[in-house]
Amino acid sequence: MLLLNGTGIGDIAIGKALILDRRDGEISVRNLAEDDVEQEVSRFTAAVARARRRLESMRDELPESAPPELAAFLGAHVLMLEDPLLIDQTAGTIRRERINAEAALHRQEMRLKEVFDNINDDYLRTKKNDIGQVVERVQAELSTKSSQLLALDDDLADRIIVVNDLTPADTVHFRDKHMAGFITNLGGPISHTAILARGLRLPAVVGLHGASRMIQENDTVIIDGGSGTVVIAPDEGILAQYETRQHRARRHALGLESLRDVPSSSEDGVRVSLLANVELPEDIAAAVNAKADGVGLYRTEFMFMNREAPDEEEQYNAYSDAARRIAGPVTIRTLDLGADKQVDGGRADANSAVNPALGLRAVRLCLTNPGVFIPQLRAILRASVHGDVRIMIPMISSLNELEQVLELVREVKNALSRECIAFKPDVPIGGMIEVPAAAVAADLFARKLDFLSLGTNDLIQYTLAIDRVDDEVNYLYDPMHPAVLRLIRHTIEAGENNNIPVSMCGEMAGDPAYTRLLLGLGLREFSMDPATLLSVKREVLRTRVTPVTSAARESLFDSDTARLRSLLGGATLH
Ligand code: PEP
Ligand code: MG
Repeated sequence: MLLLNGTGIGDIAIGKALILDRRDGEISVRNLAEDDVEQEVSRFTAAVARARRRLESMRDELPESAPPELAAFLGAHVLMLEDPLLIDQTAGTIRRERINAEAALHRQEMRLKEVFDNINDDYLRTKKNDIGQVVERVQAELSTKSSQLLALDDDLADRIIVVNDLTPADTVHFRDKHMAGFITNLGGPISHTAILARGLRLPAVVGLHGASRMIQENDTVIIDGGSGTVVIAPDEGILAQYETRQHRARRHALGLESLRDVPSSSEDGVRVSLLANVELPEDIAAAVNAKADGVGLYRTEFMFMNREAPDEEEQYNAYSDAARRIAGPVTIRTLDLGADKQVDGGRADANSAVNPALGLRAVRLCLTNPGVFIPQLRAILRASVHGDVRIMIPMISSLNELEQVLELVREVKNALSRECIAFKPDVPIGGMIEVPAAAVAADLFARKLDFLSLGTNDLIQYTLAIDRVDDEVNYLYDPMHPAVLRLIRHTIEAGENNNIPVSMCGEMAGDPAYTRLLLGLGLREFSMDPATLLSVKREVLRTRVTPVTSAARESLFDSDTARLRSLLGGATLH
């Protein structure tokens, strides 16, 4: 028996390992006779065309339930397969160096990755992974066997896939094959693949460096997504324990469906709002389906990615549609672009800042681009007549900046009035508390705003100085850190003292392990991926707020997080 530890997602899976780690294999170099060179180039371009067709058909056949970013993601990979830097240069290497396509492609991949390595930009570093994934597809097409990943047409029931890295598209592909779960060498808890696995409820452990070397084909493997533990070749006692836990978890998941129509109040009668996070207009259906109390975070920047920016009219239509379909509040966050979220995949406007997460992003970027910001504000204000629309400003850090935004909103309202265009004059304006400075001075922000929303993904990143996209430091990403908990409580208190609501829309709000703690800290509005809403609701229903309140407040002065966890209990995500 061998135990390994990585970053866990979801629940428990037990199965036989299926190792798919082609990338560790050596790529051999074959020298070509001059007469064979053009034939080799043709073999290469045919493999590229096949890889592109597979990607296109995967994109076209995405199920309706698939997260919408997937189509854009696949589209970006199709574009890479048309990029001369990858394709023409590889063909050039085949001709110039007279070597086989696999080796030429590998050399070009290394050259491109080296270029990306020398650019100090988080977003472009993620593009480096994309190059690896695209190249892997072409290499699979070049090999006489077709791609191991894509050729897995069998039912994968009870198989645990062990692979260097998985693309989000692969994750969806595997879901249809009924795989039990997966383990990857790479990736962090907020990587695309991890977020999708969570939405699809696939147990997984990511960022387990060396997994594909240490796990052997057909080993019995247990994935404990709750703790991130992988047990290889477990002894009988351990296996039996995990099987019992797995059955219990399945019964629990089935029971959750019956909670869909149950109002969310704690066992001692405290009403709690459970709202949905949405990324694209298509996600509104999931929010409606989950019977969310409203939308607590509409990440509008996703509408601007990999395409021409939507104009005021298109945005107005999207926001109005959400306002009409959602019975409760629709909290529209103004553009949070910058850092790892770039328009046009970051190609047109590569961010060369040394620390992009600390740079010109979110509201800072909007204030320097009124040509983008004003049409969005106009669209949101116009949509406000169709429902309970709210404006939310991301990443506020200074009062002066907030004043500038409020002044701009006043100007936009005046312009709409002059043009006789309808809007609700009292549309609530809130701010995201995701920079420690804003949390520490939350009372000052609370006086100027109608609501606050805790963005814990960034708040934890900035408070603990941990890059949220860097899996090397993810082990330090701790929502239970006393500094984080104090900032959360301080912000909620600022809301209470100023009679304005405080919600939370970071991942922490959608993790039932933290529900009791957050209720105890005074949180009453949770916004999350609709897929996690029922798990959190179940936790709310079985919590008595009064006793957890004293326990949670004590936690602010307690450095023993293990004691805190046992004190507050908490569920795992299903
Ligand atoms: C957050 O930072 O917690 C948040 C919700 O915003 P995003 O994840 O989009 O940065
Ligand atoms: Mg954020």
